[in-house]
Amino acid sequence: MTDHEAERGGARVFRFAPSPNGLLHLGHALSALINRDAAAAAGGTLLLRLEDIDRERCREAYAAAIVDDLGWLGVAWPEPPRRQSEHFPLYRSALDRLAARGLVYPCFCTRGAVLAASAARAAADGRPRPVDPDGAPLYPGTCRHLPPAERARRLAEGSPAALRLDVAKALAEDAAPLAWRECGDGGGGDAPARDVAADPATWGDALLARREVPTSYHLSVVVDDAAQGVTDVVRGVDLFGATALHRLLQRLLGLPAPRYHHHRLVLDAGGQKLSKSRGAPSLRDLRGEGLTPADIRRRVGLPA
Ligand code: GLU
Repeated sequence: MTDHEAERGGARVFRFAPSPNGLLHLGHALSALINRDAAAAAGGTLLLRLEDIDRERCREAYAAAIVDDLGWLGVAWPEPPRRQSEHFPLYRSALDRLAARGLVYPCFCTRGAVLAASAARAAADGRPRPVDPDGAPLYPGTCRHLPPAERARRLAEGSPAALRLDVAKALAEDAAPLAWRECGDGGGGDAPARDVAADPATWGDALLARREVPTSYHLSVVVDDAAQGVTDVVRGVDLFGATALHRLLQRLLGLPAPRYHHHRLVLDAGGQKLSKSRGAPSLRDLRGEGLTPADIRRRVGLPA
C-alpha cells in the first residue's frame, strides 16, 4: 500500500496528465486507456490533469479538444480537471521551501550558453558531451559556482534567471538510497512490483523553474500528484528516467511516493515515438475518418 492509499483507506487514485499544447494522438489514447482500465480493475478513480504551465504553447482550444476526445474515447473522470496554471502559488511555495534550505540557485545561462559550456567542457576532457536522460546537454553547473556578490548583483539588476536544484547538496541531505516501486511489465501490462534504484544525479542540476515559466514539469508534477492524492502514476516509458528526479523531489518536499507503472509507447513506421511535429495523426483526424473508439483500442494494441 502506498502512503496515500493508507490515508485513503486503500482507495487507489490514477491520473492522466496531458499538456494542452496540441491535439491528442494515439500515444495519448494508449496512456489514457491503460489508466482507465487500470483504475477500473482496481476499483479506483481516474483524474484528469491539464499540464498547462507553459502559457506560450498551451491553448484553451486544445484543452477543450482533449476533454472532448477523451469523452468520445470513453474515458471519464469524476471531478473537474486540475489545471496547473491555476496553481502557480503552490509550486512557488514548494520552491521557497527548497530555497530556504539552500538547495536552489538562480541560473542566468541561456540555452545557447549551456550548450557552449557543455561542449567546451567535453572538448577539454576529451570526452563526448554529457547528456541528461532526455538527451539534452547536461548543465555544467556554471551558475552554481558564481560568487555570491556576483549572483546578488545580477539579481538586483533584474537579469532573467531560471532556478536550478543543487542536486549534490540535495542528495547529501539524506544518504538513504532512493528507489521507486515499479509495476509495469515494459509493455501495457502489470508485472510483480519491484524496486528500481533512482539516480537523480544523471539529470545534473535540474531546472525547477524556467526564465519564462515560474515552475517546471518536474516540480509541478510531484506537487500535483501529492495534492491530488495520486497513488498510481501510469505513464509512458519515455518518462521512466524522470521518475528518479521525481522521487528526489518527493523526498525533499516530504511528499508520499506513489507506485509507478511505465508503459510501452506507440511508435510510428520509423520506430519513433509519435509526435505531432513528425506528422502523427490526431485522434480528431482519426475520428473524422470515421474510426470508432473500438478501432482506436485495436490500433493501439489493446484487447477489445
Ligand atoms: N504532461 C506530460 C506529457 O504530456 C505527462 C506527465 C506525466 O504523466 O507525468 O507528456
